Amino acid sequence: MISLIPSWAHHYDEFWSTLRKRNLWFIKLRFGAAVMLASAVLSAEFLLNLKLTAIQETALYTITFSILAYNVLLVYIRQFVKCSAEAFNPIHISLIQMSLDLLVLQLLCYYTGGIESPLFMLFVFHVIIGSLILPGRIVYTFVTATIAAFTLVIYLEYAGILTHHGISGLLSAPLYNNNAFIVLHLSMFAFVLIMCVVITNRIANELYRMEQELFDSLDKLKSAEAEKQKYIMGVVHEIKTPLSALQSYLDIILEKYLGPLDEKVEEKLSRSRVRSQEAISLIDDILKISKIKLMDELNLEKISIVDLISMLTDRQSVNFHKKVISLSINNLRSNDGMIEGDRLLLEIAFSNLINNAIKYTGYNGKIDIDISDTKNDLTITVSDSGVGIPQEELNKIFNDFYRASNIKHKEYYGTGLGLSIVKQIITRHKGEVSVTSPSKLKTASNPGTAVTVILPLAV
Ligand code: ATP
Ligand code: MG
Repeated sequence: MISLIPSWAHHYDEFWSTLRKRNLWFIKLRFGAAVMLASAVLSAEFLLNLKLTAIQETALYTITFSILAYNVLLVYIRQFVKCSAEAFNPIHISLIQMSLDLLVLQLLCYYTGGIESPLFMLFVFHVIIGSLILPGRIVYTFVTATIAAFTLVIYLEYAGILTHHGISGLLSAPLYNNNAFIVLHLSMFAFVLIMCVVITNRIANELYRMEQELFDSLDKLKSAEAEKQKYIMGVVHEIKTPLSALQSYLDIILEKYLGPLDEKVEEKLSRSRVRSQEAISLIDDILKISKIKLMDELNLEKISIVDLISMLTDRQSVNFHKKVISLSINNLRSNDGMIEGDRLLLEIAFSNLINNAIKYTGYNGKIDIDISDTKNDLTITVSDSGVGIPQEELNKIFNDFYRASNIKHKEYYGTGLGLSIVKQIITRHKGEVSVTSPSKLKTASNPGTAVTVILPLAV
């Protein structure tokens, strides 16, 4: 079988999806065209006082009805289309559409006067749309066939073999039997159609090609990013190994296996232990981000977010007690829909948000976790009565390593990667995350922060 797919279309998914969109667009236009045709027939008779014979009226209304009928049929058969070169695909739908339309247009012209018909200009319009959808060689074949068929009908009318159906009241004298008029009109008709295909096809091909090139570049960018992530993971991992060894030695010394320690030395070594732990946490965060970015597939399962959040807050109960923070989890959902997600990743995301809320909220503060739903989404908002985030920094807060200027970095240890990890995870789950400050829990001294996550519900 001859492949109808152009040689430059290597991003098949995009190619098929563009073709499907253009086919649908063609179908929608056709509904409009059928309505316009019916109104044109009516206005020709009632507004322009043109006379149509009974045969013409019957033919024109039958054609209008046929257009509507095959358009409905096209909508129906579109669902059986498979985006594969071997199967019944969008190019076949385009071919069927174009063939039927050209046939109908030929009939329309014939029943409205042949060479005298004002409707033959519609061929131009049609050829342009066809060129946007079909590969060049097919459109050229169609155009050649159309010109040949149109010429044949005109000369059959001229020779008196086919009955001429002129619109009475339109011309003062018939022109279908005027050879000079026919030759001139047909040559112009052929020239315009061919030029239209040449120009439109070139533009459409160029557009397709540019689109494909864009996807090529995107692919290259993605693989370059993957390479970068792998490189980062390799380097960071190499740094982690000696750091962990260093920590083990520090532990041995601090646990006094090698003998008693001077108080000053112990204090300095303890600080070193804390700093090396911070470096290891940073490395772990970077490794996490790289892993999420490199992850091709999520390990999907149905998850109850309410249960997941209760479990995470239970895990953190010591920290809530330590800072005397009152926590309330408000389940405001109307249904108990589940999320389809990767449990491990969602645990990381929500525990980051809960950790932040605890870390940046002072003693005797408040944290609310509200869970609500709409028909398709679940919304989880973690609000706190903590230090808040300056308004002008809210849009930077999801950037890697960004830490707001209102916190003393020594007082609140962190790497500035937590929210970036959250964003990666939520985006991978086709969700959204946003942050506002002040929150609903603001107090006289603290504005508080609210982080909202929206996740699609499992179907
Ligand atoms: P870590 O990577 O260890 O989580 P971090 O908490 O500093 O470090 P993020 O969680 O990414 O990093 O948060 C980025 C910054 O956003 C924080 O440094 C802090 O300034 C601000 N922030 C995040 N959550 C809150 C919150 N609940 N209240 C106030 N500020 C917050
Ligand atoms: Mg954090």
